[in-house]
Amino acid sequence: MQLKKFSMSDTPSNKRTELAQLGEFGLIDHLTSDIKPINSTTLKGVGDDAAVIDQGDYVTLVSKDLLAEGIHFDLSYTPLKHLGYKAAVVNISDICAMNGKAEQLLVGISVSNRFSVEALDELYAGIKLACEKYKVDLVGGDTTSSASGLFISVTVIGRAKKDEVVYRNTARENDLICVSGDLGAAYMGLLLLEREKQVFKANPGMQPDLDGYDYVLERQLKPEARVDILEKLKEAGIKPTAMIDISDGLASEVLHLAKDSGLGCRIFENKLPIDVVTGDVAAEFRIDPTTAAMNGGEDYELLFTVNINDFDKVKEMPGIHVIGHMLEKAEGEYLISNGGSLYPIEAQGFNHMRED
Ligand code: ADP
Ligand code: MG
Repeated sequence: MQLKKFSMSDTPSNKRTELAQLGEFGLIDHLTSDIKPINSTTLKGVGDDAAVIDQGDYVTLVSKDLLAEGIHFDLSYTPLKHLGYKAAVVNISDICAMNGKAEQLLVGISVSNRFSVEALDELYAGIKLACEKYKVDLVGGDTTSSASGLFISVTVIGRAKKDEVVYRNTARENDLICVSGDLGAAYMGLLLLEREKQVFKANPGMQPDLDGYDYVLERQLKPEARVDILEKLKEAGIKPTAMIDISDGLASEVLHLAKDSGLGCRIFENKLPIDVVTGDVAAEFRIDPTTAAMNGGEDYELLFTVNINDFDKVKEMPGIHVIGHMLEKAEGEYLISNGGSLYPIEAQGFNHMRED
């Protein structure tokens, strides 16, 4: 049989659309918008932090993240142990965002011969540390070689009572918008690490000058999943009406909550929780701290809405900040600045597939 050489341009229509034209979310939507689950056990497919699978009174929650060297992490300043920890935690965070408990992980790695066994031991030390901390079992995965670089694909499986699951698309008009922790620090940590990398490239003898920046570096290199916030909410008898975790930046995530729920929203600049170190680093880089908080990404905090009747309870809860509220769709999505002006909220989160 004659083998025909396959070419990427051999598509049925011979049409070619650049990935950059769609961006990440546009691409996901393009590939998946016609998928209709055929099993009645598939309660939620594409479109939330995790898929939701019916198990009677309980549901199984499943989510996956793929990290590619040079795109999602840079090994010149990311210790492999931290990378392993983070790869596990960002998945566990997606289960938290459904109000569930992560229970199992599967880890796929594709690795080039540039890496030693000892290097992969470090990666796994980080993954195991996260598993211990969050009481998750590593139950499988897959291992292959790669032509170049390291790829890590983590799948997490979690569990929740069916009536406790919180989706993205169920916020209601007048609900309060809340966020845990503080925002923008992970991005400032990334900028610092990138800056030191450039300095080191220019002067290999120089030691990195990162004193006093521990907080933002830790937020970048060792994020945590906010299981503690879920516990606090539960103790207070509050079930969020909608929830998502902040991986791409507050702006992008609040737009998901609002648009998926068919609502508009207001976020108040003066309510945004920003740590002093984040503010200091932002000033050093001449970046508006609000921009860092809105568009920085990788905070892995929880963004959720609660009924306005829960205001008295949430305003007293340490580590939770009320930053805005939901409105009817026609009101649009705006940030209200310290000066009282309205700025449209736009998703400028990390979009690796866009050229801008
Ligand atoms: P998150 O930021 O919470 O990890 P993503 O933005 O990566 O979520 O994904 C949004 C939704 O799209 C999720 O439901 C995810 O499972 C789904 N998704 C992402 N990539 C693909 C793909 N290649 N094929 C099918 N579904 C996908
Ligand atoms: Mg998520």
